[in-house]
Amino acid sequence: MTRAIVTGGGSGIGLAVAQRLKGLGHEVTILGRSQAKLDAAGFRAFVCDVADRAGVRRAMAQAGAADIVVNAAGIVRSAPFLKLSDADWSDMWGTNLMGAVHVIHEALPGMRERNAGRIVNIASTASLKGYAYVSAYVASKHALLGLTRSLALEFAKTGITINAVCPGYTDTDIVRDAVANIAAKTKRSEAEARAELASANPQGRLIDPEEVADVVAWLVSDEAHSITGQAIAVAGGEVM
Ligand code: NAP
Repeated sequence: MTRAIVTGGGSGIGLAVAQRLKGLGHEVTILGRSQAKLDAAGFRAFVCDVADRAGVRRAMAQAGAADIVVNAAGIVRSAPFLKLSDADWSDMWGTNLMGAVHVIHEALPGMRERNAGRIVNIASTASLKGYAYVSAYVASKHALLGLTRSLALEFAKTGITINAVCPGYTDTDIVRDAVANIAAKTKRSEAEARAELASANPQGRLIDPEEVADVVAWLVSDEAHSITGQAIAVAGGEVM
């Protein structure tokens, strides 16, 4: 049995990943800010804001040595560039990039000592292309992929792999909030807003969180030891 830590494991993609890894026999610990969400998920859990370095250090020490780390914690706020505040920038940067930096920083020394480890960052198609009205989110997700690629090279001679999974619009709270936001701002119905997001995917649908979890399950397997520094899109052909 190996130990896995999944940030943002209380909902959406992180929860699907936690469930999949548990199904594969891994001992899973999840991190997130909301105790209620973590309790409902039903895993060993620690409350932790990944943007807070000291908090991450405490939570990771409590969680114990990790063989697998999946960084799924993430936030998105959409607004035209000129309306994004400094707080929006620092919140998205702090969570989407620095959150992963903090968690990886705690996990890597042990992985290096054991010469084994799997790190998967839940990035986004927004790591690979631009989208209007989410510039801070897109910038933070591009940065997360840059981190992934550089660490993969830095640790290539070890048994540690570091990869990114890049989902397109996935059926989670993030997309439900985006649908409500679009509907409120554009006077379109929620069904129309949802259809518009689904149409970004050439397959014409939203991705299921379980489909993202399937790719993570492969990346953390022994068979994927040659796969490192990759950005694997789960997006029905939206990026290629
Ligand atoms: P979600 O259900 O909102 O999941 C995000 C999770 O992250 C929540 O459980 C949230 O829990 C946690 N979280 C947020 N900020 C945190 C922080 N500072 N510290 C610790 N935990 C934090 O949405 P999701 O779609 O599954 O998102 C998961 C990841 O997938 C994100 O990185 C997102 O950018 C990425 N992604 C999503 C889509 C999509 O279309 N849904 C597409 C591409 C990529 P708390 O609020 O309790 O902290």
